[in-house]
Amino acid sequence: MGGKGWFLLKLLMFQGLFTSRLQDPGFDFFYFVLQWPGAYCDTKRACCYPTTGKPAADFGIHGLWPNYNDGSYPSNCDPDSEFDPAEISDLVSTMQTKWPTLSCPSNNGSKFWEHEWEKHGTCSESVMDQHKYFENTLALRDRVNLLQILQDAGINPDDEFYDLQDIKNAIKDGTGFTPVIHCNKDPDKNSQLHEIFFCVDTSGTEFIECPIIPRDRCPSKLQFAMF
Ligand code: AMP
Repeated sequence: MGGKGWFLLKLLMFQGLFTSRLQDPGFDFFYFVLQWPGAYCDTKRACCYPTTGKPAADFGIHGLWPNYNDGSYPSNCDPDSEFDPAEISDLVSTMQTKWPTLSCPSNNGSKFWEHEWEKHGTCSESVMDQHKYFENTLALRDRVNLLQILQDAGINPDDEFYDLQDIKNAIKDGTGFTPVIHCNKDPDKNSQLHEIFFCVDTSGTEFIECPIIPRDRCPSKLQFAMF
């Protein structure tokens, strides 16, 4: 190959390297995590309703978390990118209903959203800015009507015990995707349905089957607490 050929080849290789770097989001997938408020309040005995009032008895968002295929995850990736309520002012009223804070003292939710943005959101800045991060997360929540799916399968938040496998099957049938379920314990030490994890592609918009299957952190029978 002549000198010109080599030059062109090197240019192409450099370009390829450059574009693949640009396309690499820096993580492998997202966990999209929904939370049952009745279980959060049972464990954090002193849960507090937001200043906007008691949230609906429905699954709320916990967060959208960039993750690696080896099970680890990046966190607090950009200390310079502060949570800015002004950037998401058009989303705040929807966030109050779908991403409700339950921590004490009672507050308007900004503290929780700030924590989620700073710890997780800043690690997805290669694919979305702050507004898009919250907008995409809300849109994902709209795509899974988890409570309806469970209730259609006869699984209700009534303090009764249900089979983990029945819960997983109902969610898989209703959404098309296999969830990962986390439990916590109520004051009587009963395991209860706490959080449901779905996997989402690196664009933050499409559900995918999880590239890694972490074990469910629940026993085979668990309680679905009232809220
Ligand atoms: P993370 O650091 O994203 O894994 O989230 C864990 C933190 O979020 C803990 O400090 C929790 O107490 C807090 N947290 C989880 N759910 C809520 C909620 N609904 N409202 C306020 N804080 C929450």
